Amino acid sequence: MKRIFPVITVLITISLLGLIFFQILWLISVKDFKQAQLKENLEKATGRAGLRLMDEKPAFVAPRKSDLLMSTGSFYMDFMKHAVRNRFSKDEINTIVKESLEENNIKNVPYEFAVTDANLVGDVIATDNFSRYDADSNTEKKLFLLAPPSGSNTENLVPQEWLIVIVPHQSDIVLKGITWFILGAILFTLIIVSAFFLTIRTLLRQKKIGEIKSDFINNMTHEFKTPLATISLAVDALKNEKVSGDKEKTNYFTGIIKEENKRMNKQVEAILQAALLDKQEVQLNLKRLSANELINNAVNNISLPMAEKNGQLIVKLDAEKDIIMADDVHFTNFVNNLLDNALKYSKENPLIKLTTSNHNNLLKIKIEDNGIGMNKETLSRIFEKFYRAHTGNVHNVKGFGLGLSYVKTMVEAHKGTIKAESILGKGSSFIISFPLAK
Ligand code: ADP
Repeated sequence: MKRIFPVITVLITISLLGLIFFQILWLISVKDFKQAQLKENLEKATGRAGLRLMDEKPAFVAPRKSDLLMSTGSFYMDFMKHAVRNRFSKDEINTIVKESLEENNIKNVPYEFAVTDANLVGDVIATDNFSRYDADSNTEKKLFLLAPPSGSNTENLVPQEWLIVIVPHQSDIVLKGITWFILGAILFTLIIVSAFFLTIRTLLRQKKIGEIKSDFINNMTHEFKTPLATISLAVDALKNEKVSGDKEKTNYFTGIIKEENKRMNKQVEAILQAALLDKQEVQLNLKRLSANELINNAVNNISLPMAEKNGQLIVKLDAEKDIIMADDVHFTNFVNNLLDNALKYSKENPLIKLTTSNHNNLLKIKIEDNGIGMNKETLSRIFEKFYRAHTGNVHNVKGFGLGLSYVKTMVEAHKGTIKAESILGKGSSFIISFPLAK
């Protein structure tokens, strides 16, 4: 599993890059193909328009013998009258060019045309912008000889005419024509890339959840192993006749069994509570209560373990307005959890300060300790379920990583907010704010 994950990532990244590369190649070849097609169609359309200009209004008059004998100048003039430029108006040529372009699938694009003699001198019929485009280079030109009917013996006398049709900005036209291809390719590539990132993120998350789960199971087994072993030893001792006859010793060992049982119960309770929180099945019984009083109760619970560790607890309940809407059981629980942690993650001579104060319409509770503190990474994750810091000797401290996630859920259920600050090696503080009851 550890190896396969980077392999999958690399393989998918390579195939994604390949896919993008080939899409670009494909788009380029589609563009080239379309451009060649446009060129070909333009040639066909120009040819077709030229043929129509020659065939329609056939005005070629076979010269009379006398004409041929007469001065060539007059015959030339006579013939010129029948040239395309004389037979068709600009609009008529435009219609023919337009129809020919449409017949060849060139629709709704700007075009320019001109009918001229070979040297672009003399009488020219041309669209207004024709001269703006360079017919030789970047725009398309097609020359078509409007020749006299075959078999005529007067080729030399026919003025040579050219039909030039220009479709400017062909690249833009082609690009416009394949806009949907490009957009589609971009869209689906984006979808694939996002799906890929979502997959990787989910895999990473699953991996993390897997680690958290195995951590949790390890923790739980350790947590239960010690009390079970103690209970087993105590039972063995009770079986001993010397002990069972001695009331004091019996009491001592049953006391141990009871104590260990209580500890295990508390742990099971914590796990069950987390499961309930997951299903959001916790019902709060909110009442107007004095926060200072509730805090005093919680402080009482910690005094014994505090004394065992030679710790000092300073409580300053300075908030004058302390009536909030609270559930007494859960409120006491989460204050206890925070105090427990302050003691659990302490160094020698723990000093814990609990203060309350009023800010605007809020009641603030601050719990500070001078314990081991946390680094930034830990600090950002402490409210996650099952999260426990992995560094240093924190592992010596028992826990499931459920306490703070419970605290946060409960504080928020009380419409409050919680914030943690910490300096590694110096200590941590947790600040909770609640709205005061109206
Ligand atoms: P648990 O104590 O069971 O591990 P919590 O949810 O109560 O679970 O705490 C999560 C983690 O946050 C702890 O494992 C510890 O690393 C860190 N932590 C909590 N409170 C403190 C504190 N007062 N000082 C230092 N670290 C703390």
